[in-house]
Amino acid sequence: MNYNKRNPCPICGATDYCAYIKSKNGYLTTCHKLKRHVKKNEVIDGIDGNEYIFLYEKNGCYMFEEKGQYEAAKKAYKESFCGKTSKPSVAIKKAQDEPNLDDTGIYEYTKVSHNILDEIYRKILNRCILSEKHIYMLKKEKWSSELIQKSGYFSTPDQDTKKIILEDIKKSNLQLEGVPGFFTKNGEWTYNMVSGMILPVYDINKKIIRLQIRPDWNYWQINSFKERGEKPPKYINFSSNGKKNGTKSGSMAGIHYDEPKFNTVIVTEGSKDAKIASEYLKRACIYLPGVDTYNAFLNSELFDELKKRGLKNIIIAYDADIIYKEQVKRAMEGFYKKLEVLNVNVYYAKWDIKNGKGIGDLILNGYKPTIIKRVRK
Ligand SMILES: [Zn+2]
Repeated sequence: MNYNKRNPCPICGATDYCAYIKSKNGYLTTCHKLKRHVKKNEVIDGIDGNEYIFLYEKNGCYMFEEKGQYEAAKKAYKESFCGKTSKPSVAIKKAQDEPNLDDTGIYEYTKVSHNILDEIYRKILNRCILSEKHIYMLKKEKWSSELIQKSGYFSTPDQDTKKIILEDIKKSNLQLEGVPGFFTKNGEWTYNMVSGMILPVYDINKKIIRLQIRPDWNYWQINSFKERGEKPPKYINFSSNGKKNGTKSGSMAGIHYDEPKFNTVIVTEGSKDAKIASEYLKRACIYLPGVDTYNAFLNSELFDELKKRGLKNIIIAYDADIIYKEQVKRAMEGFYKKLEVLNVNVYYAKWDIKNGKGIGDLILNGYKPTIIKRVRK
């Protein structure tokens, strides 16, 4: 299976070519685009917050194994010589924990309640500010000061702040088991966060249920993307998948709104577009983690809640360049059909691509979309 936009190669960040393959212990990563020298058994930090061990190189493919999986397998192998193989080894359990990128798959990865997730993630955010650098970045994207203030975005904390946050959480006695992003190291709960801007994912009750991070790619990373003629992936989930006592995040749909009216909602891709649309168009706005993730959305708690609270109409506001992508067009057809079966009317938000690519750009450029009702086929 190839890595993609939602699940980039953890080694180099590429969204194509690099792949993960089934192995007897679980999965191996084959990175095709590594631009630096690595030694056998060298441990490198993956962009997903996990550590990876370099195994070997073959025909320009660099094979890596996630450190936890590697060590579990090594332990199981050793145990097998000590006659301890009667009980299922950690390595076998690990193998069942397959990355689930399938759109129709399970959406919720943790049983921890939204209230607890919210409390814990707010413990992080309470100690964070939005840095000048990120304010500048948003201003360059034409965000007004008022909108930035209302954004609810933060910059990732530095190491000193991280210590304070972990202390805060410890004092609060909140349980971190099952909270995506957290794991244990030497018996203590901790987290790793790629440096960048944090975009909280909200549920319908404005509880923070996940954190997305827009990484600040460093000079070396950006260059290695450029050399390949690629763009670095824009967003990464705050996850501790594969870590000791860690939990995968999975991509979740979120919602922004001012007034709790859910009769007509806008569906778009990405938190920022949704924030802008909800502010300027005065409607609840849902953001999907990718245009082809509609099944996960339709099967989600969020969708059930929206239906309970009177959802009748959905306005689809995907990027204007969508009409050029065959795969996306097909995915959208599927989405419309499912919505019709569920008795939700479908509308399109349309605009001239020269006025903005996404609905957020369009609005901040001073335009509004035209809303067209889809005729049932
Ligand atoms: Zn790679």
